[in-house]
Amino acid sequence: MIPIMNDHPIHSPGSVGGCPCERLLVVCDFDGTVCSVDMGNAFLERFAKGWEEIDRSYSAGEVGSRAAYSRIAPLFRANRSQVLDFALRSERLDPFFPEFLSFCRERKIDLKIVSDGLDVYIEAILRKYGLDVEFYSNRLLFREDDRIDFDFPLASEECGRCGTCKRSLLDRFRSDYDRIIYIGDSYSDVCPARAADQVFAKAILYEKCVKNGTPSLLFNDFGDIRRCLEKTSSSTTSVMKP
Ligand SMILES: [Mg+2]
Repeated sequence: MIPIMNDHPIHSPGSVGGCPCERLLVVCDFDGTVCSVDMGNAFLERFAKGWEEIDRSYSAGEVGSRAAYSRIAPLFRANRSQVLDFALRSERLDPFFPEFLSFCRERKIDLKIVSDGLDVYIEAILRKYGLDVEFYSNRLLFREDDRIDFDFPLASEECGRCGTCKRSLLDRFRSDYDRIIYIGDSYSDVCPARAADQVFAKAILYEKCVKNGTPSLLFNDFGDIRRCLEKTSSSTTSVMKP
């Protein structure tokens, strides 16, 4: 699939690795992006009966994810082993993500995952595939009676809508990198997409980018993104030849 652009080119050809010394970072959402299934939703469907109404408020923008999680916490019933078992049975990693990660590493491009989902399943799924990737997310804390708490170590105190403020994380990463590529699919990706230098989007994020004028490239999977980056990378090579 050839990515579709919702605006004029974000960068001229060759912007990937435009300078051999450019410090480039790829930041990926997890649910619905690295993992084709939205595990957060699958978990709530399985373990938090009655969560749908809260999710409707979240999707309508009436409450942020942090408030939604707090309202869902009393509904959630599961222990660690149930959660891990469900995660490993239900996950669908994007089949092209492992090779995309190798592609980035071969080119000395850093990759980090930022998620408004939960640490327990992200860690388990990455481990299942032997993927050593730095990730940032909310935390799921287990209590003895199958009850849980959510913890938001990466929330923004200024805004406070999301459990994990991905925008703040991008701002934090910014000082170490010349350019940031953002990849995502949904509501919590809208703010960080606005702060990124290049955006690959699908589903809700793509619709939002079209509406709010954030230039983005539509993708289906990480194979699309790799091909797109390879193309711009080889353009650079030819442009830079004497
Ligand atoms: Mg997502």
